[in-house]
Amino acid sequence: MSIEEISERLEQLRSQYALYKNRPFDITIARGIPSTEQLKLSEALLNETRIENWYSEDELDIRNYGGLFGLKEARELFGELLNTQVEETFVGGNSSLQMMYATLVHFMFTAKNPWSRGDKVKFICPSPGYDRHWFMLDHLGIEMIPVELTGQGPDMEAVEKLVAQDPAIKGMFVVPTYNNPTGETISDESVTRLANMFTAYEDFIILWDNAYVVHHLTDDKKEAADLLKACKEAGNENRVIQYVSTSKMTLPGSGVAAMGASEARINELALEFSKQIISFDKINQMRHVLFLKDRETIEHHMEKHAEILSPKFDWVDAILSAYFSGDRSAFVQWTKPEGGYFIHLTTQDGCATDIVEKMKAIGIELTPANAAYPYGVNPKDNSIRLAPSFAKLDDLEIAMEALCTCIELVSLEKSLTN
Ligand code: PMP
Repeated sequence: MSIEEISERLEQLRSQYALYKNRPFDITIARGIPSTEQLKLSEALLNETRIENWYSEDELDIRNYGGLFGLKEARELFGELLNTQVEETFVGGNSSLQMMYATLVHFMFTAKNPWSRGDKVKFICPSPGYDRHWFMLDHLGIEMIPVELTGQGPDMEAVEKLVAQDPAIKGMFVVPTYNNPTGETISDESVTRLANMFTAYEDFIILWDNAYVVHHLTDDKKEAADLLKACKEAGNENRVIQYVSTSKMTLPGSGVAAMGASEARINELALEFSKQIISFDKINQMRHVLFLKDRETIEHHMEKHAEILSPKFDWVDAILSAYFSGDRSAFVQWTKPEGGYFIHLTTQDGCATDIVEKMKAIGIELTPANAAYPYGVNPKDNSIRLAPSFAKLDDLEIAMEALCTCIELVSLEKSLTN
């Protein structure tokens, strides 16, 4: 475009934006929250699931204290998602994030050789990743080393090089299936390499956060290879700790979370939990067992979520495609996830922060720009996460039209100043 053409187009975009500013919206597409319609899918969990028998298969009175590792039937159910045996499965409270935090606290301070004894503790952070992972590492004073994601998991060459050289690197996070926010699923090859790689720190751990293990949006259901199995084959069976939860299957905040790892690791972490709690909410565990039953029932239940979620993802893609296809694709690239809760936008360099600010000024809240990078720092300033699940379709359409205006407006303004 010539400078005159850019100026002319900017005039149009600025007047469109002024209209938005005069009548601000009240829409959020900031966090991956299930919509009210999705929550309704699990009303039966509370209203229709009758517990007839207060005793679990392993003879625990579920109303009482006891059973720190979880009910046997709950451990079996989550074992189906984690590919673990009962002894390798720990079922806890309502949050997998809290389990991850407890895991880090354990290795940092109370394990046999606590990390905090050394000078520095570092973690590998595949980016763009989940901001709450970065918040917990930062909170514990763990230095974060970003490694780029490739579309099929982390750049393994970079990971292998880093962990082989630096014993201060104690572990890494991975969201293997439908990563938050890029939507990618890790390749089988990368899983094998993670299991086999040489690490300078001998007790290196991988926090394998499989939050979206059954959260498919299409019939082409992606599944990450079994890292625990690969680690066992490689002789590194204590390397991985897997996490899942029902937060986005049933009711976030009232779901059930679980961990899967070698029996030794599970026992080690259970000991850590035993210092914090007597036992978790086994009544809720039982409700979930009765409601979700088995993997097949879970998959069927998740298809109902997909029916509600898919049209929202399709809308986002359709509107971005209408604005930014062909010649105009230089303004922004976006992911087309087959599962999970997010779409990731790569804007022109130096534009993401301004775009999110402009959206905020017209009453549309997005996740802060670049939040998917450790410390929120991304020198390219080109990363925006969209979370379309909570908004109604009409609001989503409005938000996307406004976003497209803001993307073009900010990019063209930058092109004039550069
Ligand atoms: N991990 C990831 C990757 C997530 O996206 C989320 C939810 N947004 C969580 C964990 C939260 O899990 P929970 O509710 O079990 O704490």
